[in-house]
Amino acid sequence: MEFSLDDRTAQLSVGELSDFEIGPRESGDGPQGIWRAQLGTHWHQEFRDRVGGENTAALFEVPIAGEIAHRGWRIKLTGRIDQLIPPAQAENEQRIRPAAKLRELKTVLRPLPAAEEELRSEYPAYFAQLSTYLALARLHAPIHPALEASTPVHGELVFIEAGSGLSQGIPVTAADEATFHVQLERLTEFLNLRLRARERLRSLSFRPAFATLRPGQESIHADLEKALENRPLVFFEAPTGFGKTGAILQAALSELKRGRFERLLYLTSKSTGQLQVVRQLTAMTAIDPGAESANSTSVAIWHVRNKREHCVNSEFHCVHDACRYLHDLEARWARSDLARFYLFENTNRSLDALREAGQAAGICPYEITRVALAFNDVWIGDYNYVFAPGNRGLFYDQPGFDPKRTLLVVDEAHNLPARVADAYSHLFSAADAAAAAEDLYRARAYAPLLTAWDHWTHFLHHLRPADSLSPDDEDDARHLLETIAKHSAAVPLDHAELGSRISEMLWQIPAFLTELETDLPRLWWVPRAAELSVTCLDAGAVIGPALRSFGAALLTSATFGPTDVFAASCGLEPPERRPAAMERNERLGALTKRDSRKLFRHLSTGADLLQVEEAREIDRPTIIRAETPWRDGAYDVAVDLRVDTTYQQRSRFYGLTASTIETLCAAAPASGTTRAVAVFFPSYSYAEAIQRTLSDSGSVLRVSLQPRLPDLAAQHAWVEESLVLSDALFLVLGSSFAEGIDVLGGRVSSAMIVGPALPEVNAVQRARLAALSDLGREVAFRRVYQVPGIQKVNQALGRLVRAPGQHARVLLHCRRFADPAYAGLLSKEYQLGQHVENETELAAWLASSQ
Ligand code: SF4
Repeated sequence: MEFSLDDRTAQLSVGELSDFEIGPRESGDGPQGIWRAQLGTHWHQEFRDRVGGENTAALFEVPIAGEIAHRGWRIKLTGRIDQLIPPAQAENEQRIRPAAKLRELKTVLRPLPAAEEELRSEYPAYFAQLSTYLALARLHAPIHPALEASTPVHGELVFIEAGSGLSQGIPVTAADEATFHVQLERLTEFLNLRLRARERLRSLSFRPAFATLRPGQESIHADLEKALENRPLVFFEAPTGFGKTGAILQAALSELKRGRFERLLYLTSKSTGQLQVVRQLTAMTAIDPGAESANSTSVAIWHVRNKREHCVNSEFHCVHDACRYLHDLEARWARSDLARFYLFENTNRSLDALREAGQAAGICPYEITRVALAFNDVWIGDYNYVFAPGNRGLFYDQPGFDPKRTLLVVDEAHNLPARVADAYSHLFSAADAAAAAEDLYRARAYAPLLTAWDHWTHFLHHLRPADSLSPDDEDDARHLLETIAKHSAAVPLDHAELGSRISEMLWQIPAFLTELETDLPRLWWVPRAAELSVTCLDAGAVIGPALRSFGAALLTSATFGPTDVFAASCGLEPPERRPAAMERNERLGALTKRDSRKLFRHLSTGADLLQVEEAREIDRPTIIRAETPWRDGAYDVAVDLRVDTTYQQRSRFYGLTASTIETLCAAAPASGTTRAVAVFFPSYSYAEAIQRTLSDSGSVLRVSLQPRLPDLAAQHAWVEESLVLSDALFLVLGSSFAEGIDVLGGRVSSAMIVGPALPEVNAVQRARLAALSDLGREVAFRRVYQVPGIQKVNQALGRLVRAPGQHARVLLHCRRFADPAYAGLLSKEYQLGQHVENETELAAWLASSQ
């Protein structure tokens, strides 16, 4: 749907209007889209041939369009009716005035025939759709030269049972036709609420992010606004402690107020980051400056939590017959006062409030989120809602959501490529498939589906570890999954009886097959016996188009690492333009030779070429680096050349690593109430090995090894306690203790990094190396291993100094940190460390940096 609030016009398809709903909508049991669509196409063709054979005057896929005025809005509708039967061949020969018939075909998974009222209540949108076509046909008669303007038009909805092709026709009544007006009412109510939201944004008031500016913050607001004005893609790099969130929110709120965007999407990879954004935004926009919740802000904020967190059912199984919170949604919604969540901005929107309200109304609380989102100005949530194919429907199906009119912020964006690749990666195991087979047998599922599932389980069971699946095996796997998808869509399945485990798997398969149509580099491999992994090697091909579809996208990180590598992993051009002189003789502008050849086939004038070059240039991200003069000189770094922490060599140096930690702890100056040293390891097992070495040597050092705690509050408590009670905290690079917890900033005065955290060597990394082999082995190795390995070091160290006046002494404990290939990837603050070649030099460095 497209709409203009200024002109009070809207444009949408007949299907969109008939589906339009402000409240919750009864949904089918799971995504079976592609297979249902294929079946639908099959039956449409079958019926078309049949009707065409019986009636040569019958017309098919006839376009119908028209404009309708309703409550001050002009609504333009377009669509195609499946069949138009002109009057001469109309079925009812007894009519005084022969009528034409509009016929719409709908494939359903339920058994037919069924009571008409049952079909009316199950598929109201189908009746609304045909009623809309009828209204347009009468308002804009004649809709086809084969009709006269005065020809009466009737409608018939034909339901077709997907498995058998059995059909049932239902003539549309005057009562059905009233649903068209109901839909117009719903649509104009929505448009009026959008108008109200725009007025709210125009009168938006907010406080600046910083009451007093730190050195480096003075120009950031202007810099961000200017960058967003000039380029739709902006990279913003600001070290921890700069006040990045506040700076971004201030720029974003200004843009919303100016009307350049109508919505802000703020995405982070962790819920802690989302909570921080909610807090900061609330503080900046609270009507009552002391307010702590988002209930009294001058901007409508919605923090989107995942569906499972909303759940109030005894089991997380979202099908009609297994969850009473999905029953009679529309009727219950109309009787409830849940509309307050989008009508009144001062309604408490906390997760607890949603769950309580949903439980009281007998409606799934997630439906409240789904309905209310469209009326909120700021959506705060996880990357998945834009980038993961299985989750993005929540945002993209919202009425009126238009990425082009939206500002997207991606926080901690260095995590984005890996997270999106994960969303496009899948694991299938024989153990899970065998357990699910029991559910299928218990529920006496459709026999061909049982057989297909058995074949799939058998296939998985016989897989042996391999770095890649043979092309034949890959074909077999695809074929087996396609067969399951076909049979699971051919007949209605009782998902309540089947249970959540097998239902999830059955839904996952068609979604996975649809995903395979997206051209991404994937590795089909067997990590362990009887397990098939389909791993996305590079998600740039989906990230880039998604980012470019927004009015503007601001990607932010404390450290991006090499920006050309980061841009490439997001499917974007490198942010800095290379000097034109380097390429002038070889290329046309900045286009590759191949692109240039392609272009010459289509373009003939210099102006055309310039236009293309400008479009390409505008696609190139711009980068802003925050100034933080207070970090200059805040790190005192040394590189320990005595050790080699590579996987093959590290055990030779366990004793030296352990004794170096003891030395560092002995020399650590107090920082506040603590003298604890933070020691970062590339892996948990490495940290455990050094802990054992210390213990075996009789060391009295009090070491706290990072526990496996999923809960952030518990992680915080552990860090606080360990800072007081331990001499050394052993932390793992890349974990939330190293990247998600900020309490170490200013609390530890000394830290040691035990080697870069290079990714584990496995089939996936080898495949990534092979995919980049065109660039040469050195460049490929840098991208696949060195960049992510040093990125984790930069992330961990960046958090040790978070404010002016803080200092940290850092020992980079591996000779690789002196190798230019690694050193060049370190953030500039850690690059020029003093080299330590023996114990004496270590002691001297420690003494000099007291
Ligand atoms: S209450 Fe729980 S099980 Fe029911 S629909 Fe909502 S999330 Fe699903």
